[in-house]
This record gives sequence, structure tokens and C-alpha cells, in this order.
Amino acid sequence: MAPTSLPTEILRADRDAIDRAATLLGQGAPVAVPTETVYGLAANATDALAVARIYKAKGRPDFNPLITHVFDLEAAEKLAYFTDRARELAELYWPGPLTLVLPRREDAGIADVVTAGLPTIAIRVPAHPVMRALLHRFGKPLAAPSANASGRISPTRATHVAASLAGRIRLILDGGPTEAGIESTIIADTGGELRLLRRGPVHVPDAVAGDDKKIEAPGQLSSHYAPQKPLRLDVTEPDKDEVLIGYGEVEGDLYLGGTPVEAAANLFALLHEADDADAPKIAVAPIPGDALAAAIRDRLKRAAAPRSN
Ligand code: AMP
Ligand code: MG
Repeated sequence: MAPTSLPTEILRADRDAIDRAATLLGQGAPVAVPTETVYGLAANATDALAVARIYKAKGRPDFNPLITHVFDLEAAEKLAYFTDRARELAELYWPGPLTLVLPRREDAGIADVVTAGLPTIAIRVPAHPVMRALLHRFGKPLAAPSANASGRISPTRATHVAASLAGRIRLILDGGPTEAGIESTIIADTGGELRLLRRGPVHVPDAVAGDDKKIEAPGQLSSHYAPQKPLRLDVTEPDKDEVLIGYGEVEGDLYLGGTPVEAAANLFALLHEADDADAPKIAVAPIPGDALAAAIRDRLKRAAAPRSN
């Protein structure tokens, strides 16, 4: 991968540093921040390009949907539909290491790239004082996966973050070692029983084991959005019955952008648009390049593969 050379500041997470982090977030730059589980790489969840830069910084991403962090339950209810039992769980365990996967509100204002195009959203109210101060100061939801480069273990200290992301991000807020060191428990409440998608620090007795990777039937919880229509890759001359998603020099009917970060930011929103278009088939222009571009191609290849059900 081409070396990147952003100067990376590591600042003790005092008030000034949190102000600086909020400024950078407002400019669309991702910032590393401690949570009570592990250090996260946070970006403005309402800004698709900012979120795409998380993927760029992490190296070869897999486009899994990200957890959206908010300050409190009130902010969470603006993003998703809560059942009574989901609200009870939130009241019991928030702030804390519990993530709830819930139906996403149409007016949530969260970028499609955060949820990888899914109709559900994963939300958490973190307990760490630094992350809470940042959420409060910034005033918008933050999407954040763990702050490590692809393939590295999850970071529990600022030095771990620096070891894998120095030169790729502008700021690391140092809040000392994280407490749990284990990623949050994930519970889905999207119809039917409560499902445990990931074990973690919080134990919810009512949840049945559910695997977000295995369940792919329509209407069920799937960890990946795939378009309904057949999809053809590396197309520069579309057939009459295809809507073309362009990239770079290839304009198309819909346009991903001219850089891998733009394409990552627009990918899921445009797949949805292509699904809604009149043409019965989708074609996508070539997306040459390594790292992020390669990850986008992988994502599209999976979307193009015939479905088993
Ligand atoms: P991490 O950011 O590393 O803690 O991982 C986030 C986890 O949440 C991944 O395993 C995702 O697959 C999962 N996740 C996030 N959003 C959703 C969603 N809408 N549906 C199912 N799983 C999700
Ligand atoms: Mg991770």
C-alpha cells in the first residue's frame, strides 16, 4: 500500500485536546478515541466521506457495518425504532459495552456506508469519559470501529493505535489503557426473539444465539446488503437493460466518484439507487487500484455472486 504521511498528534485527552478532536471531526477527519472496550477510530456518522476515510486509514477493510456511538438514549431514539424491551436493555446497560442492532429510522440522517446499506443500525452509548466528552462536544453521532489497521489486534492503549495508524490519521486522544479490552456485546432486536450476535462484557439472559454471518434470508438479519438485481462488473459499455454505475473516467447513469474514498462513501447509497432504477440489471465500471479500491471490488464481487437462496 502507498505510504501515507499525515502528521499524527498524540494528545493527553484534556479539554483542549477534545476541542481539537471535535474540530477535526467537523472537517471530516477520523480521530482515534478511547472507549471502555477498546480504542475506536471515530468519524462523523452523518458524513459519508468522513466514514470512508476510516476505511482508508485502516487499510484493507471488509465493509462490515460500523457501530454508531451516541451520547444518550434520547439521541439513540432519533436513529432507530426501539421496542419496550430494547429500551429496557438500554436503560439497564447504557452507558456501557452493549450494542443494540435495531431497525434504522428513515430520517436517521446516518450515511449508508455506516450501516453497509442495511435497513438496521448498530448503536451504543459508551461509558468512557473521553468518548462521552467528545460526543457531547461534537454533538453528532460517531461511527467507530476499532482503531487498528486491518489484520492487527484491537488496541487497548494509545501506543497500540500509534503502532498501526501513525501517519494515517491526524489525532490520537490518549486516555490511558482501556478497561474492558473486549469488544461490546451485540444484541439484535429486529423482530422475533432477541438475538445475541456477539458475546461480550454484558450478559443478556433472554437473547438466543444468533449468527449475523449465517442468516442471509430476505427479511432476516444479514450482515451485508446485496442488491436484488443481477450485477455485472468491469463494464464500460452497458447493455440496454442495465443501469451503469460509473467510476473515474466512466460516467455512467449513477456516479461513484473519481477516487476510492469517494467510491467507498457512495457505494451502498448508489447500489440502493440502482436497485430502484427502471433498468432490470446493474452494471458497474472498473474500479482499478489496491487497498480501498480492492476492498470495493471484493464487496461488489460478493454482491454479484448468485445467491444461494
Ligand atoms: P466492531 O466495530 O469491530 O466492534 O464491529 C462491529 C460489529 O457489529 C461487526 O461484527 C458488525 O458485523 C456488527 N454490526 C454492525 N451493524 C450491524 C447491523 N446493522 N446488523 C448486524 N450486525 C451489525
Ligand atoms: Mg474490530
